[in-house]
Amino acid sequence: MAELNLAPNFIQNIIEEDLKEGKYSSGIHTRFPPEPNGYLHVGHAKSICLNFGLAERNRGLCNLRFDDTNPTKEDTEYVDSIQEDIKWLGFSWGDRKFYASDYFGKLYEFAEKLICKGLAYVDDLSAEEIRAYRGTLTEPGKESPYRNRGVEENLDLFRRMKAGEFPDGAKVLRAKIDMASPNIVMRDTVIYRIARAEHHRTGNEWCIYPMYDFAHPLSDAIEGITHSVCTLEFEDHRPFYDWLLDALDFDVNTRPRQIEFARLNLTNTVTSKRKLRQLVEEGYVRGWDDPRMPTICGLRRRGYTPASIRKFCEEIGVAKGNSLVDVAMLEHCVRDDLNENADRVMAVLRPLKVVLTNYPEDRTEYLLADNNPMHGGSRFVPFSREIFIEQEDFMEDAPKKFFRLKPGGEVRLKHAYIIKCEEVVKDEKGNVVELRCSCDMDSKSGGPTSGRKIKGTIHWVDAKTALKAEVRLYDYLLETDADGNVPADFLDGLNKGSLEVLEDAWIEPSVKLTAAGTHYQFLRTGYFVVDPDTTPDHLVFNRVVGLRDSWAKAAQKG
Ligand code: ATP
Ligand code: MG
Repeated sequence: MAELNLAPNFIQNIIEEDLKEGKYSSGIHTRFPPEPNGYLHVGHAKSICLNFGLAERNRGLCNLRFDDTNPTKEDTEYVDSIQEDIKWLGFSWGDRKFYASDYFGKLYEFAEKLICKGLAYVDDLSAEEIRAYRGTLTEPGKESPYRNRGVEENLDLFRRMKAGEFPDGAKVLRAKIDMASPNIVMRDTVIYRIARAEHHRTGNEWCIYPMYDFAHPLSDAIEGITHSVCTLEFEDHRPFYDWLLDALDFDVNTRPRQIEFARLNLTNTVTSKRKLRQLVEEGYVRGWDDPRMPTICGLRRRGYTPASIRKFCEEIGVAKGNSLVDVAMLEHCVRDDLNENADRVMAVLRPLKVVLTNYPEDRTEYLLADNNPMHGGSRFVPFSREIFIEQEDFMEDAPKKFFRLKPGGEVRLKHAYIIKCEEVVKDEKGNVVELRCSCDMDSKSGGPTSGRKIKGTIHWVDAKTALKAEVRLYDYLLETDADGNVPADFLDGLNKGSLEVLEDAWIEPSVKLTAAGTHYQFLRTGYFVVDPDTTPDHLVFNRVVGLRDSWAKAAQKG
């Protein structure tokens, strides 16, 4: 199980109070309840870390429960991906994987029990009429003409609904509460509907399905959940949660209680499965795991590590008020992790050929280079007469403060020699295609002139041995206003330049045969990960993040 250092939060305080009062003597029990209608995103990661984290911290248990009560939108593809993503994040539900659909039989019995107590009725109003009768925030609702059916009639009709005697939408089962309640959820919430839809687990066994508001509290109660943590939009549903458990005689001292927290909102990011599905289905991205997507699988492919996502979830904390978190903070967390754990290598993203005119033609030497200052380790990097440097590390008409390579100027090659630009070779259009430089053969590390004061140091790769690679650079998928908010119609904010593919990048040969998911820092250009598109003769890298940490800077200042 992953280690998590959840900061003290108001939910932990509630749990401690409950324990002090002697409630829940058989232990704390939480659950993560995804609906399998899409892939998990970074917002779900917050909920996963919170639910599994609370259980761990209180030596309790956390269940995985698929909230699969809406068969038309759900699929086993999502069931599988959700499990993979939770495991990858580092959490384990042990043998406690459940489905709300496991409880369809029990839920049906609970519904009959409500009917028998006179607390539920079959309503023949159409969906539209129910909406019209419901009233508004300022006006009370109106009672349905079917509201006062007797228990026998309701039982009979409900059984016939189950038996498939009525068409879809012809009838619903409703809780009988209070059409004048100031809380609209309490105005006789619908708890069962007729829908002839094949369910991914129960097939065609059922033609009536419980509604979320009914299935959720009861699934919690059936599993012995103590603290049912959910996002703020369910605050208005809590009175119904409690009403239902009261109505069905669950003991107040052991039954679950619902606690709401603020969902994660991130700048430049949408965290709604519906919108993410739209991006996938309408082809704005390559799939759910496109490295620009805020899905867990997208973040994974982008090169985020589980530890960095867990760290982020710790840092943002848990609060009761909605807020917008700067995506730079998420980037900061992965940068921190990779800074410590990724080996550093040299790669040239946009190559410019450099010929070292005085370097022997047939010589290759191997220069010692350190892998990571925090972990140590080193390797040998080949060096010979022809190398590539970054196009932007050379400037023909350079300003005074340009300390990289310019005509007649000198620069130090990282781990290697000092070179001087003697000649600029251009093609017929005037583009610079090659530099001819001299090499100070005494300036290698430990050499007599290695200590010469040279302002700039640049990275390079040896042309003869470097591996060609495709490098994919990413920008935010969505642009925002100055406050970081995505436009109301989020597609208006699509950033057309969110993917840049560099086909002609060159990487030092030490990265040969590395597996997808391996991380590197490319000196001076950022953190990168090997993409699963990589084959033995075609290397593909994704840039995870650049090196500059705007978040850490702002935090220092602020
Ligand atoms: P979406 O709006 O993306 O479809 P959802 O709430 O419908 O999300 P569920 O599968 O029902 O998705 O979510 C499972 C759990 O994750 C719920 O408890 C939900 O409250 C929580 N969750 C979903 N989105 C966020 C978020 N942005 N921040 C924190 N928790 C979230
Ligand atoms: Mg939901």
